[in-house]
Amino acid sequence: AEPQHGERSFDKTTCTALIIGSGYTGLSAAITLAEAGLTDVVVVDAMRIGEGASSRNGGMIGNSAKFTLAQASKRYGEKRASEIMDDYGSSMSFMIQRAATLSDPIELNLSGAVVAAYTRKDLARLREMRGRLASENQKNMDILEQDKVHSVLKTDIYRGAMVIHGQGTIHPGKYVQALARRALELGVRILTGWRFLGARPDGQGHVARLQNVETRDSIEIHTDRILLGVNGYAGPETPWLRKRSIPVQSYMIATEEMPFDLLERLIPQNRAVFDTKRVLYYFRRSPDGKRILFGGRARFRNSAAEQGAEGLRGFMEHTFPETRGVALSHAWLGNVSFALDFCTHGGRMSDGIYYVSCCNGNGISGQTYLGHRIAEYMLGRPNTDRGIIGSRFPRLYFYNGKPWFLPIIGTGYRLLDKAARWLD
Ligand SMILES: Cc1cc2nc3c(=O)[nH]c(=O)nc-3n(C[C@H](O)[C@H](O)[C@H](O)COP(=O)(O)OP(=O)(O)OC[C@H]3O[C@@H](n4cnc5c(N)ncnc54)[C@H](O)[C@@H]3O)c2cc1C
Repeated sequence: AEPQHGERSFDKTTCTALIIGSGYTGLSAAITLAEAGLTDVVVVDAMRIGEGASSRNGGMIGNSAKFTLAQASKRYGEKRASEIMDDYGSSMSFMIQRAATLSDPIELNLSGAVVAAYTRKDLARLREMRGRLASENQKNMDILEQDKVHSVLKTDIYRGAMVIHGQGTIHPGKYVQALARRALELGVRILTGWRFLGARPDGQGHVARLQNVETRDSIEIHTDRILLGVNGYAGPETPWLRKRSIPVQSYMIATEEMPFDLLERLIPQNRAVFDTKRVLYYFRRSPDGKRILFGGRARFRNSAAEQGAEGLRGFMEHTFPETRGVALSHAWLGNVSFALDFCTHGGRMSDGIYYVSCCNGNGISGQTYLGHRIAEYMLGRPNTDRGIIGSRFPRLYFYNGKPWFLPIIGTGYRLLDKAARWLD
């Protein structure tokens, strides 16, 4: 689904809420604000609608945090930690509810997800994690020993797997377009090709400066509230966020159309698959079931999609030797962003501007939910400063937004993955 432009020029100098970023975060926030009756909500994007990560991702929906409750309790205290886990736990059901309000189809497929264990230790950890859950949640997950992996995945590289029922996939580009359509139906205006350059205080609100990315013309907009939903695309105009978020390129490839029988053998039932490595592979079939979409962090230096594609092709052939010789039809990349503590954060900066940032690799359901949660906070609703919203967002020192350390960390992670397998 090719991203579309919104309005290209703006005839007003005021609005009640100005949302920067037209991805899942920004559009979901706009929908909640408009559904609450707020008029004059404006979403602005420097690119086309959803042209950041929200139209480029793998479309695999899930809701798990990258840390345990015990780890979170040490960092944020018990109360905040359990609220944060609730936020992660609530995100997917919220996203599915929101999707049900959209008039355009998003190709939601809930045939399940497979977490593929790279080592026996990883399989033991998955088993332990399942064991910690309440028994009704355990029913949604099956652990498969190595000799059963072929029932969900035709590869020999994993030591076992966990199948999570009820998770699955969407068409990411159609989803962001459907959110945009819903926002427009509610009276939200979406302005594209305009970059937010910063804001200054103005009474209880702000004056935001926007620049047209083509003509370089600038305009000023008076607004009561500003939300930054810029995630992995935070630029120098948002320095507070930049010091706290690490942008990472994620790459994807699509194969040419392949025989249905072969695909049904490799990834039966079109489930979403991701593995337990530090530098993980994730893959699925395309929404029409005819291709493999394969993703991962193929490179740790900023690179072109074609360079990433070479690495990914190697990973795909390693996973599925039967794909050797299959041509690639597409290769692309997009930015995600990571926080030092691997937790998504949202809240209000000291200048009064709101934000949601750091999806930490996956955010289809998370950013949809947090867009809604931050909008409730912006509306001043009670009990909205909890969990991820209002959590302490750690900053990185000796860092100005350019992640010079990624090649070192990425290489280290790859070595740790190799060592874990070697010692397994
Ligand atoms: C290749 C890839 C695969 C992925 N796979 C999955 C997956 O399978 N499952 C999953 O859950 N997640 C996945 N993700 C992550 C997911 O896509 C993101 O978490 C999610 O899209 C983030 O949404 P967002 O609205 O916060 O940010 P984005 O969609 O990135 O939107 C941010 C927007 O802000 C705009 N912007 C930034 N600065 C400015 C400015 N100054 N002025 C105006 N506009 C600005 C950008 O142009 C951009 O459009 C993947 C990401 C990538 C890149």
